Amino acid sequence: MIHPMTNEPTTSVESAESSEKSEKRSILEQSEHSLVRWFVDRDLPKYRAKQVLSAIYQRRIDSFSDMTELPKELRAKLDEQFCIFKSKTAESQQSEDGTEKLLLELPDGGRIECVLLRDGPRRSVCLSSQVGCAMGCVFCASGLDGVDRNLTRGEILEQALKLQRLLEPEERLSHIVMMGMGEPLANLRNVLDALDVARDSEYGLGISPRRITISTVGLPPAIDKLAEAHSPFQLAISLHAPNDELRTRLVPVNKNIGIEAIMAATERYFAVTSRRLTFEYVLLKDLNDTPQCAEQLVKLLRRRTAMLNVIPYNPVPGLPYETPSSETILEFRRILMEGGINVMFRQRKGNDIQAACGQLRRLREREPQIVTLSTDV
Ligand code: SAH
Repeated sequence: MIHPMTNEPTTSVESAESSEKSEKRSILEQSEHSLVRWFVDRDLPKYRAKQVLSAIYQRRIDSFSDMTELPKELRAKLDEQFCIFKSKTAESQQSEDGTEKLLLELPDGGRIECVLLRDGPRRSVCLSSQVGCAMGCVFCASGLDGVDRNLTRGEILEQALKLQRLLEPEERLSHIVMMGMGEPLANLRNVLDALDVARDSEYGLGISPRRITISTVGLPPAIDKLAEAHSPFQLAISLHAPNDELRTRLVPVNKNIGIEAIMAATERYFAVTSRRLTFEYVLLKDLNDTPQCAEQLVKLLRRRTAMLNVIPYNPVPGLPYETPSSETILEFRRILMEGGINVMFRQRKGNDIQAACGQLRRLREREPQIVTLSTDV
C-alpha cells in the first residue's frame, strides 16, 4: 500500500517488528487496516479491530484483559501477541501552571519528551517526532547531539496516550502540536500515519485536524507533498529570522534552502489548502530582537495570509542565548502591530519544568557527566 501523502510504502512497521521475534508486537504500530487483517486471518469478526482500538484510544484501557467486551480467549490471544505500551516513563514533572512533562525511555534506550499543556478548556499535547534532531538550530536543546532515529507511528501515538492518561476522566485531549523533539517533515510518513489515528473519530482520538499543528523548520519538498495531498493539518514554519544571513546563523539548514524557497512553498501550500499558516519566531536577545528585524519581518509577511507567533526564548542551560527584556519585546511587538502583521505573543508555559523541547532529556543526560574528583588521585 502507498501512503497518499508521502507516496511511500506503508508496511515497514510489520517487517521491522518481525526482527524482534521474542518481543510482542506493539498494537499502536497497527493501522486499522492491518488489525482488521489480523482478525480476518484468524476467522474472527473484523468489527473486533475497531473495538480493540477504541478501547485503547478512546476508553483509555491499558490492558487486553480489561477489555471485557471481548471474549476471554480473544483477550488472551491478543495479550499473547501484542503489547499496548513499549516505553517506560523515566521521569514525569508537573509545573505549577498545570503543564506536565514526561521523559519516555524506548526499548532501544532512546529517550523522548512529550508535554501536556492545560490552558483554559484546552488540553494540548506537544509530541516528539524523532529521537534527537538533525536540524541543528543553535539555540535548541533537542539537536545538540544530532538525530538518532525517526520515531515510529506507534511511538508518536504512545506519547499522546500516556499524556491522555494523565487527564481526569471527563477531560479530553483537544489539540496536538508536533513541536517536541525532532523535525516532523523529516519523518513525514510516520507522523501522518500517527495523526490519521489522532483525527479519527470512530476509533481514534477524534481531534479535529484544524487543531493539529505540524511545526517545521521549513523543508520545501515535504511542504509540497503535504500540499499535493491536501493536508488537513495546520502548518507552522519556524522562521526565527527575517533574512537569510541571520537565519542561517540560527537555523543552519537554511543555508541550502533559503527563506524565499520556503515562502514559495508556503504559498503553494496555501493555494491548495486555504489553510492559514503560522510562522514561529523565537526571540533571542541581541540577535533577532532588534527594531530592524521587526521592520524586515513586516516587509516579509505584510501581504501574506499568515499569523506570526512570537515566542520568548526559554533559556537552555549551557547555551549562551538569552530572553530579551520586556521593553525590547514590547518595542518589537509595536513595530509588527503598526506594520499590520497578524501577530500573537505567546506566553511561556512550564518554565519551571524544562518544558522547551529537548531540555529535560539533555539535563538528565548531562547529570552523569558531572565528575566528582576524589581526593586520592
Ligand atoms: N523541528 C520543528 C519542530 C520542533 S521545535 C521546528 O523547527 O519547528 C518546535 C519549536 O520550538 C520551534 O519553533 C523551535 O525553534 C522552538 N524552540 C526550540 N527550542 C526553544 C527554546 N529553548 N525556547 C523557545 N522555543 C524553542
